[in-house]
Amino acid sequence: MKNIIFIAPPAAGKGTASELLVAKYGYEHISTGDMLREAIASGSELGSQVKNIMEQGQLVSDDIVIALLKEKFETIKGKPFILDGFPRTLPQAEELTNIFAAENLDNYVAIFLDVTEELAMQRSLGRITCKDCGTIFHRYFENKKPKAEGICDNCGGELVGRTDDNEESFKKRFETYINNSKAVVDYYKDLGRLEVIDANREAQESIVDIEKVIND
Ligand code: ADP
Repeated sequence: MKNIIFIAPPAAGKGTASELLVAKYGYEHISTGDMLREAIASGSELGSQVKNIMEQGQLVSDDIVIALLKEKFETIKGKPFILDGFPRTLPQAEELTNIFAAENLDNYVAIFLDVTEELAMQRSLGRITCKDCGTIFHRYFENKKPKAEGICDNCGGELVGRTDDNEESFKKRFETYINNSKAVVDYYKDLGRLEVIDANREAQESIVDIEKVIND
């Protein structure tokens, strides 16, 4: 079973795919977006530094996310992991290669989730997540609506949208992604590590292809 680096535009389904893979294979889920949101929620110095940048849909500086990633990486030593949202720039990708080299880690694949901007925007504007257990639901997609509005089916927790899941921020995040991702995708293509998955489908369908890649 390979370690996974997800490369994808905002709301392509990285979070949902990660949820399914964590449940089935016991991966450690490392989401730089979640770590940054936790820093904001905790009211830390770092949180106040990144809040506006994130709400505007811009990228947090490489130094900050690389430091966060390294810290997290220390805590999961040896366990299989999914990187969700990192690397997003070429310097981040290069730094990750250094981290892997230092750990003698060679068992990984970069999975590019390919999705249209239109579908990603629909997913982004309707997604809601349980504050307590993190399960993801959707306000408008029939098969992902919670049974009771605003309440998690699993644990009864409150469902909330992200402050950056509005149209303006989504468009900015998508543009930022387009500007940075090509270099990252090309980097992994050149390393012979890239796999492209069509993510314009239900998560349960794309996951079948993802499983083939990680178990190959
Ligand atoms: P999405 O993929 O929907 O944009 P994420 O949770 O992955 O959601 O990221 C949310 C925000 O967190 C990004 O818009 C960006 O501001 C910040 N962020 C997350 N990961 C990184 C990263 N690797 N480099 C820079 N900024 C990041």
